[in-house]
Amino acid sequence: MNQYQIGTRCVQGGYRPGNGEPRQVPIVQSTTFKYDTNEDMGRLFDLEAEGYFYSRLQNPTCDTVAKKICELEGGSAAILTGSGQSANFFAVFNIAGCGDHVVASSSIYGGTYNLLSVTMRRMGLEVTFVDPDCTEEELNAAFRPGTKAVFGETIANPALTVLDIEKFARAAHGHGVPLIVDNTFATPVNCQPLSWGADIVTHSTTKYMDGHASALGGCIVDGGRFDWMAHREKFPGLCEPDESYHGVTYAERFGMGGAFIYKATAQLMRDLGPVQSPQSAYLLNVGLESLHVRVQRHCENAQAIAEHLSRHEKVAWVSYCGLPGDKYHALAQKYLPHGSCGVVSFGVRGGRQAAETFMAHLNIASIVTHVADARTCCLHPASTTHRQMSDAELLAAGVSPDLVRLSVGLESCADLIADIDQALDAVLCS
Ligand SMILES: *Cc1c(COP(=O)(O)O)cnc(C)c1O
Repeated sequence: MNQYQIGTRCVQGGYRPGNGEPRQVPIVQSTTFKYDTNEDMGRLFDLEAEGYFYSRLQNPTCDTVAKKICELEGGSAAILTGSGQSANFFAVFNIAGCGDHVVASSSIYGGTYNLLSVTMRRMGLEVTFVDPDCTEEELNAAFRPGTKAVFGETIANPALTVLDIEKFARAAHGHGVPLIVDNTFATPVNCQPLSWGADIVTHSTTKYMDGHASALGGCIVDGGRFDWMAHREKFPGLCEPDESYHGVTYAERFGMGGAFIYKATAQLMRDLGPVQSPQSAYLLNVGLESLHVRVQRHCENAQAIAEHLSRHEKVAWVSYCGLPGDKYHALAQKYLPHGSCGVVSFGVRGGRQAAETFMAHLNIASIVTHVADARTCCLHPASTTHRQMSDAELLAAGVSPDLVRLSVGLESCADLIADIDQALDAVLCS
């Protein structure tokens, strides 16, 4: 499939039915698979034959959809997970655990920040957060002898910072560790981090990939270019025998292209189990078939709305990397030349009260804790996700009291702009 352009891969990747086979990806709604002999099944347990025996490890529907996402990102292997959270957890935990250290951008999704700084810290992993805009010297200074990975987001949710992927990849590779990039907001339609030097890509497929707020899910894609064996003392889990799996050494048996995903499947999925269901994978695939068309429209609508807001007298500021004056415009032109995402954040003049009045008057955009689906929605962090914080604490966290996060959907743009205008009209100018 990799000879085809992204749109063809979105529509037809992962699944090419044979003569007389179903046109649509079949939902294999079965936990288990039947074999004629113990030996047949034993070979599967030993990872000596390809096949299915239990859907916690592998399921044909999930594998087909993972293969499509793998083709979209230009990777060597991929696995679906039950959520974006479990994808990021597995991507890190597959190579870093108790006593290890990770360098992460401080501008990442709140759930991932918490995963790294609270939950994985309780497991004995240490993390150093760095400002994504830091110099290479500052970035290099964050590494320790026990550092096992670097983590960032192509476009951060909700801060909308754009990651300098090449800068982060250089630092990671200079220290002999891989760069993991969460590509949820950009999607492979707008950016393929593997082509810029990232080694592992993760997704919350819950967002644009599903695109309709139908099914939770996640995905991990391995680029297949990180040489684990060249740094074998850092990655014993991949480069030394796994006694819990008949002594298999993943990096030897499956090579650079397969080791990471095989280990995540055979070991982490076996022991922890956050699989995506075949039903969810089917819905995800329906979303993926139109990803390239939807993402383009999300970006067109968001660009027009960001431009409109930036000219509006009742709007104090707008953050969107598609705007020429934006702090991340230059990085976006390099990494996201065809568009960034559909999420725009902005401040309503008049602060917290003005933002709340504005949102209360919207008719098309609804208030939901979600982003990146077909319906326009918005969130006021100061009165919802961050409501326990004082105004001073909010500012310190980079969330101003007037901030509205708008996830621009696929509706007709003129209707969205008219809706925004009438809601801004309701805000009294002070
Ligand atoms: C939503 C999100 C996640 C978490 O994904 P879930 O599917 O909700 O578990 C991770 N990273 C980013 C960038 C997200 O937007």
